[in-house]
Amino acid sequence: MTRFRLSQQHLNLLSLCPRKFQYTYLDQLVSPVSPDDEERIAWGNQFHLLMQQHELGLPVEVLLNEDTELKRCYTEFIKVASDILTLNADASNSIFRQAEHDRILNFKDDLLVVVYDLIKAEKQQAQIFDWKTYPRPQNRHLLEQNWQTRLYLYVLVETSQYLPEQVSMTYWFVKSPQKQPPQSLYFPYTQQQHQKTYEDLTQLIDQFHHDLNLYQQGQPFPQVDLEQGYCKSCQFAIRCQRVPDELSVNELIDSENLYNIDQIQEVKIP
Ligand code: SF4
Repeated sequence: MTRFRLSQQHLNLLSLCPRKFQYTYLDQLVSPVSPDDEERIAWGNQFHLLMQQHELGLPVEVLLNEDTELKRCYTEFIKVASDILTLNADASNSIFRQAEHDRILNFKDDLLVVVYDLIKAEKQQAQIFDWKTYPRPQNRHLLEQNWQTRLYLYVLVETSQYLPEQVSMTYWFVKSPQKQPPQSLYFPYTQQQHQKTYEDLTQLIDQFHHDLNLYQQGQPFPQVDLEQGYCKSCQFAIRCQRVPDELSVNELIDSENLYNIDQIQEVKIP
């Protein structure tokens, strides 16, 4: 039996639409990234690299001098989050801290993998931090339900001596608008949430293996309910025959969605 390395991205996609998971990871159908997204991803990568340099106590000026927006966001962030970003601030209480810290957990027949942007482990608590380069979401509940939050907390408890109530996760939204300080969202954790995550993980992964079994016999993964509304913005809408009734494919290609439809020219990775 193949052992899978499942990350929060895999779990999120499986929860959103198993068929999309199949197209993306099993069939390896990929679409080109838009120039805007490409730029956003590059900026995010650069910010993560910067924070890793900072955490290692290495000079960051070279990175900052190349990008004024990066410099502004970094400077603002350091100012507002000095309590977590100041190195050796409370050395007597600290057990360890590390940027880009990865952990792997055996979960039944698979592996669950996480990468923390920053982890701070102290005697009585451990904190996970994550840097986000998109605006702070209005709906806190969605982020709480996201597999990143759930998996990151779950794996930390399962791979350490900390009780659920001793760990937390904080997202920092570092790309703040001009003259506005970066904002954060803090998520504590409980034993009850931990148990629920275990149950939901078990169900999701069992279902995944069930679907995989059928897929290997020629049956595609299930599609999400149309009523959920995800198909409208999905790059696989034509492949899934889920183009909205009121638009023909030709109309879609002619419309302002041209770029998105263009992305359906999926590239199959050999
Ligand atoms: S079009 Fe809908 S059913 Fe098909 S992969 Fe996308 S979200 Fe899933």
